[in-house]
Amino acid sequence: MRRDNRQTQTLTGSNRGVYEMDTLWAPWRMAYVKKVAPVGSCLFCETGGNEQDEQSLVLYRSSFVFIQMNLYPYNPGHLMIAPYRHVATLWELSSDEQHELIRQTARSASLLQQTMNADGFNMGINQGKAAGAGVEHHLHAHIVPRWSGDTNFMPVVAETKVIPEDLTVTYQKLAPVFSKTLR
Ligand SMILES: [Zn+2]
Repeated sequence: MRRDNRQTQTLTGSNRGVYEMDTLWAPWRMAYVKKVAPVGSCLFCETGGNEQDEQSLVLYRSSFVFIQMNLYPYNPGHLMIAPYRHVATLWELSSDEQHELIRQTARSASLLQQTMNADGFNMGINQGKAAGAGVEHHLHAHIVPRWSGDTNFMPVVAETKVIPEDLTVTYQKLAPVFSKTLR
């Protein structure tokens, strides 16, 4: 899934963005999807409470938090770590929950680095609507793997909400790693 940096780094001018998108995303057979959220429900509570890990793209469940693949990834391997409890802020989490949230974030980044050869990560929490939280009432942390040279590409993806068809393929690749690797 890695693109050829040698080629894209030599490109300049107006065709650069298009070329980068093609080379980065071609293996993923992209499709556009419409984001649909059930009315009056919390996606994280729903996922946290069900046992349909594969269907919900849940990679791992610990005592206090679970790790789920983002259905609308900004990059391949975009994960979210959420507590089971429905709380909106970081300070409402117990000490154990806070610890587990950061521990699983660190562990996830390490495993993504090993399995997807990410060059770096954006890791963080958008708390509150004003900060851009998609699901503002249920706190969750994001991990977005980054590859050298994908900077110009990111805003394009963020705007279009592109989803790869091969999301389930990524899941099949990551799930065994996340379930078998402790800590
Ligand atoms: Zn919730």
